[in-house]
Amino acid sequence: IIEMRDIRKTYETGALKVEVLKGISLTVENGEFISIIGASGSGKSTLMNIMGCLDTCTSGEYILDSKDINSYSEKELATIRSEKIGFIFQKFNLLSKMSAYENVELPLLYKGIEKKERKRRVLESLEIVGLDDRQDHRPTELSGGQQQRVAIARAIAGKPPLILADEPTGNLDSKSTEDIMNILLDLNKSGTPLVLITHDNDIAKLASRIIRISDGQIIKD
Ligand code: ATP
Ligand code: MG
Repeated sequence: IIEMRDIRKTYETGALKVEVLKGISLTVENGEFISIIGASGSGKSTLMNIMGCLDTCTSGEYILDSKDINSYSEKELATIRSEKIGFIFQKFNLLSKMSAYENVELPLLYKGIEKKERKRRVLESLEIVGLDDRQDHRPTELSGGQQQRVAIARAIAGKPPLILADEPTGNLDSKSTEDIMNILLDLNKSGTPLVLITHDNDIAKLASRIIRISDGQIIKD
């Protein structure tokens, strides 16, 4: 589903040029669960943002869904972001004025899914993450672990063929971490490929494959 060859990324900030990714090559097969582990600043989020088409690489080849990323139009890229990939971020990124229900519903609204089907999918997703009794709560009325579960419900409601999670348990205690990892593992068992960034060795070990990144390079796969 993903094929990357010699991906490089250079950030230019003022006069400072920093090469953050120094030739990353990797593939993600369908159904795989890969964890990406590495020190802070090693380039994990940068890599994931490129994988998720939220950012572009400076050079290298990125094949997504059997097509070179450069051959997609802006419109196609927007569709990929909203329909093909479910993102889960460390900071949840929920909308504070909206209820759990509305947060999960939003991407389905964008996709143009009709109301009855939206409702079915929102409730189904909230049930999967065990929050069907919290649908009217706003993010401030939920615990950190619950907020992250809403974010997961939002990511899976559109049934994306790929899930990218950037330290989804980074802000959570061990019980919430276990709950979240069980949800993600179940999703993966039902066939969805999962790429998960973590700096926790115990979490990384849950994956079928561990990629270790150091200073913008893969040092172990
Ligand atoms: P962490 O574990 O702390 O989240 P990370 O491995 O995800 O770290 P990245 O966020 O990918 O690290 O950052 C890698 C490097 O790229 C850092 O040195 C950072 O300063 C630099 N960097 C990231 N984003 C930008 C940006 N938008 N502009 C300039 N430099 C950036
Ligand atoms: Mg990061």
